[in-house]
Order: sequence, then C-alpha cells, then structure tokens
Amino acid sequence: MRAGTAALDNKVAKEAAKAGVAGLEFYAGIPGTIGGALRMNAGCYGTETKDVLVEAVALDRTGRRQVMPLEEFGYSYRNSKAPHDLIFVEAIFKGTADDPAAITARMADITARREESQPIREKTGGSTFKNPDQVQSGGRGAWKVIDDAGGRGFKLGGAQMSEKHCNFMINTGDATAADLEELGETMIAKVKETQGVDLEWEIKRIGERA
Ligand SMILES: Cc1cc2nc3c(=O)[nH]c(=O)nc-3n(C[C@H](O)[C@H](O)[C@H](O)COP(=O)(O)OP(=O)(O)OC[C@H]3O[C@@H](n4cnc5c(N)ncnc54)[C@H](O)[C@@H]3O)c2cc1C
Repeated sequence: MRAGTAALDNKVAKEAAKAGVAGLEFYAGIPGTIGGALRMNAGCYGTETKDVLVEAVALDRTGRRQVMPLEEFGYSYRNSKAPHDLIFVEAIFKGTADDPAAITARMADITARREESQPIREKTGGSTFKNPDQVQSGGRGAWKVIDDAGGRGFKLGGAQMSEKHCNFMINTGDATAADLEELGETMIAKVKETQGVDLEWEIKRIGERA
C-alpha cells in the first residue's frame, strides 16, 4: 500500500481492506494521519506502524527528497528517532493477501472494542501515560495503577480521569490546559506515593506550563 501522509489512518485501513491487503486493520481505530503515525509509531491491539512499514519518503528543509527504510526510524513504543527536520510525504506498507470481507470484519471488531472500552466520544487526547515498567508495576498497565491509586473518575476543575478508561483524561466542558496538566501531574504523584510506580506522559506537551 502506498499512502500520502495527509491521509487519515482510518481511510488507509479502509482502502487496504477494499484491496484485500491485511495487516493495516489497526489503523481503523487511530485518530490521526499517516504522517503522525510515522513519527509516533502509532499502533494499537498488538500492532504498530513499525510492523507494517517498508519505507517512507521525506523532504528535508532544503526540499531534498530522501527515501527512509524502516530500519532508519529507530522505532520504540510511540516514538521514533527520525530526524526532526524531515517532513514525511509518503509511506509504503506491506501487508498480506486476505479476503476483503474478513479484513473488514476484523476492522469492525477493533472499532467496537474501542467504543466499548474507551471514551472516544468525549473530548480526550487518548492514552495519557505510557504503560509503566512491568517489573516495577508488577505487570500492571497504566490504567490499572491509576485505578489502584483511586484515580478513576478523579476530577480537577473541568478535567477528569475517565470513569470508562482511567488512563484517558477528559475535558468535561470547561477544563483549561493548566487543569489537564495539573490533573496529570497529580496522578503521577498519587501513583508514585500509593503504588511506588513511575508514570511517564505519553501525551506530548508543548509550550510553557503556567
Ligand atoms: C481518542 C484518542 C485515541 C487515541 N488512540 C491511539 C492509539 O490507539 N494508538 C496510538 O498510537 N495513538 C493514539 N492516539 C494518539 C494520536 O491520535 C496518534 O498518535 C496519531 O497517530 C497522531 O497522528 P496525527 O496525524 O494527529 O499527528 P500529530 O499529533 O499532529 O503529530 C504527531 C507528531 O508527528 C509529527 N508529524 C505529523 N505529521 C508529520 C509529517 N508528515 N512528517 C513529519 N512529522 C509529522 C508532528 O510534528 C508531531 O511531532 C489517540 C488519540 C485520541 C484523541
């Protein structure tokens, strides 16, 4: 599959399904574009961009075009080491041949699982924290240590840890950026104090903290 980087992940998943290319179903549930997916190694339910990417085409600030093979991305969990001056314009993915109807059914399953377990209809930035070190947390995910620390539904101003999935922060209506950041920092402190676990932001924060 060849995709322009402005294409929505969901659109690419659907086009892959139509063409009988399996393996890109996970993109159906990720709200973003292929450009963001390349930079962030976007993924869910056990598959990430690094598992399907062959190469990407990028332009540098002088307009020079270069082809970047997968190995040069230095991918890790929701991160890449791709130089920051590169703008990706195209990606090539490799899947496997399958029946379009079977691929579409798996995509529908992914969408249904997300609807059921995540507050995707709320104002949210998605997963707030990375899963912590598995030895330190005794195998618990970020949501579980937050839950165990009493964070489910915890509110600060208009910002709240979701009741549905407590690693998602939601804006209940009038939260400021400061409320959301304060809520996240409060969770980090609570989890450290009560669970002895270090949480690290998955959301990229930009600008100065007020
Ligand atoms: C409800 C919800 C659920 C989410 N679930 C998931 C999930 O399951 N899995 C997951 O991985 N993420 C998830 N996210 C986070 C986010 O949507 C994804 O990481 C997405 O892939 C980001 O893509 P974007 O196009 O929005 O990129 P942006 O957020 O706009 O950008 C992300 C980074 O990529 C860079 N970038 C973007 N385009 C290019 C380009 N063309 N060339 C070079 N650099 C570029 C930006 O500069 C920035 O550093 C979720 C978010 C929400 C709100």
